Amino acid sequence: MKLVKTFDKKIEIGDFSFEKGLMIIAGPCSIENQEQMFQVCSFLEREKIPFLRAAAYKPRTSPYSFQGLGTSGLEIIKKIKQNFSIQVISEIVDLEHLNFYRQYVDVIQIGARNMQNFEILKALGKTDKPIILKRGFGNTIEEWLYAAEYLLASGNEKVILCERGIRTFEPMTRNTLDVGAIALVKTITKLPVIADPSHAAGRHDLVAPLTLAALAAGADGVMLEIHPSPSQSVSDREQALGFEDFSKLLKKIQTIGPLFTRDIIHSP
Ligand code: PEP
Ligand code: MN
Repeated sequence: MKLVKTFDKKIEIGDFSFEKGLMIIAGPCSIENQEQMFQVCSFLEREKIPFLRAAAYKPRTSPYSFQGLGTSGLEIIKKIKQNFSIQVISEIVDLEHLNFYRQYVDVIQIGARNMQNFEILKALGKTDKPIILKRGFGNTIEEWLYAAEYLLASGNEKVILCERGIRTFEPMTRNTLDVGAIALVKTITKLPVIADPSHAAGRHDLVAPLTLAALAAGADGVMLEIHPSPSQSVSDREQALGFEDFSKLLKKIQTIGPLFTRDIIHSP
């Protein structure tokens, strides 16, 4: 592991850079229809949140679960880009879609299940798009960093790591948010690390405390699942925050965020 250890470059996405503040990403688990996405975009605009998660393809454990809208979801992403000035984050599952993502998606997500899909890593390494690389729920920190190394070694320096919970013996949460991994990784690399407390917890009532814990451990941001009407969400409804709860959490983040400086976490 050569590159992740020595890497020290700033990532800029639109007007955002990690020096300026925390990366807060919000949006539904999956794109359901245009109205739902436009409602979320208008809300995020009001809250001055510049990053939207917008998934057209959903790698689901069961083949009988909602798989995402696919190409019609991509059409909705296009409409979002035409109507809002918001940075869109979307997971890629097939390199066949890469041209579309190059054109319309601002940050490409590699999901937990594809963290070690080396051909996807190599191909995205050849793009200049910022990449969010989620940690696989069964992967060690070293395997996660080697996956990041694939992107860096192929030439893409805009890698953002995302801790999204790992599988442990504990069944009362969906996954276990590995807060220690966030702090540890920040001693090894200067790549930004964000957390996904929604998929870690699997329960909306744990999203706020896990968000604050991740930030206290040094996370450079969080990705949160929100929905205009959580009980109607077609996927991951148990973990989705409604707009009001999300706004309350933002206030907490604004209060505690400045207490945790990155200098304290980085080792020399
Ligand atoms: C997601 O963020 O939409 C997702 C499927 O998460 P993960 O890959 O972490 O399970
Ligand atoms: Mn989800």
